[in-house]
Amino acid sequence: MSKYNSKILDIRFLDSQTFILRFERNGLKFRTGQYVVLAPQNFPESREYSIYSSEHDPWIEVLIKKVDTGYVSKALSEMQVGDMLQVEGPYGFFVLNQGEIDNRHFLFVATGTGISPFHSFTLTHSSLNYQLLHGVRFTNEAYDHGHYLENSHVICTTRDEKGSYAGRVTEYLSENDIPTDTICYLCGNSAMINEVSDLLEEQGIAPQNIRSEVFF
Ligand SMILES: Cc1cc2nc3c(=O)[nH]c(=O)nc-3n(C[C@H](O)[C@H](O)[C@H](O)COP(=O)(O)OP(=O)(O)OC[C@H]3O[C@@H](n4cnc5c(N)ncnc54)[C@H](O)[C@@H]3O)c2cc1C
Repeated sequence: MSKYNSKILDIRFLDSQTFILRFERNGLKFRTGQYVVLAPQNFPESREYSIYSSEHDPWIEVLIKKVDTGYVSKALSEMQVGDMLQVEGPYGFFVLNQGEIDNRHFLFVATGTGISPFHSFTLTHSSLNYQLLHGVRFTNEAYDHGHYLENSHVICTTRDEKGSYAGRVTEYLSENDIPTDTICYLCGNSAMINEVSDLLEEQGIAPQNIRSEVFF
């Protein structure tokens, strides 16, 4: 674990609220699925952000949604290329088990920016056998859709019908059984995680095969 200052290399806005911050890695070693704690340099508070980039990239990327009333995400959204960021970490246990990577089928369920660790998982391990359910309001919030295997990415939209499924991820799961030997990772808001965990357990998935990361 380390704490260091790192220069911002790139900022890519995906829509008016959501952006990818790329910054110097400075030798940071992490396991895909972990998060870092970030703040603009000399800012009084910091927040956790899951790593979006791969274990193999020379930089670190995070996917951030600017919360309208939020303190740190708003400050981060106003930073410029070349500014210094305070980085702490890596932290967290929302990681893949080495012995499962090559021989198990995975279900990844995300809401909003909760897709971030799954982007890192699938970029780091290109041969993963997975299905990704992404719950968003509008199809254009299916960030970097082209980075996932086309037939494995189900975009569940609640405010338009241009995704792969019109409805919430919970509705999709109520209509589609998941094989009971699937390893499930859930990431995003706590309400989704609680509901999806209950649904998966009802479908016969063992609790130890349901792993979650709560963002808020
Ligand atoms: C382990 C972990 C990993 C995280 N990874 C990410 C990530 O990859 N990307 C990311 O954008 N956020 C992530 N978060 C959330 C992030 O740490 C902050 O909580 C978020 O950026 C809001 O901080 P803020 O200072 O702007 O808001 P604050 O001033 O702290 O206000 C918090 C308010 O914002 C709400 N809120 C927090 N996050 C969201 C959100 N995404 N959408 C809508 N409302 C929200 C809270 O419920 C609360 O009402 C993660 C949180 C944890 C615990």
